[in-house]
Amino acid sequence: MTHVITALCTHEGDCVEVCPVDCIVPGPKENANWGDLFFIDPDTCIDCGACVPVCPPEAIFPEEDIPGEYEDDIARNANYFIEGPGYWDYDLDEERRQT
Ligand code: SF4
Repeated sequence: MTHVITALCTHEGDCVEVCPVDCIVPGPKENANWGDLFFIDPDTCIDCGACVPVCPPEAIFPEEDIPGEYEDDIARNANYFIEGPGYWDYDLDEERRQT
């Protein structure tokens, strides 16, 4: 199983700082297809749950608990690493939503 970032994500980036296996990646902000969310690599996530309580908009769920309206985000997180940019060399402060 994996954890999943849903469309509730507001690009805060706190999750990246706590993930012990570095499997959370921001969609490049300038990318029209992927720039709205951060994504969890389902093949690397160890389901530790550390990212859940630090997410300000409470956008992260264990896959088995994801609300029905966000079920499409399960495939979207996985596809980011297959069809999307995947891992890239980013500056977290640059990718955080500026508030
Ligand atoms: Fe990383 Fe743990 Fe969150 Fe998975 S559940 S994305 S391993 S912090």
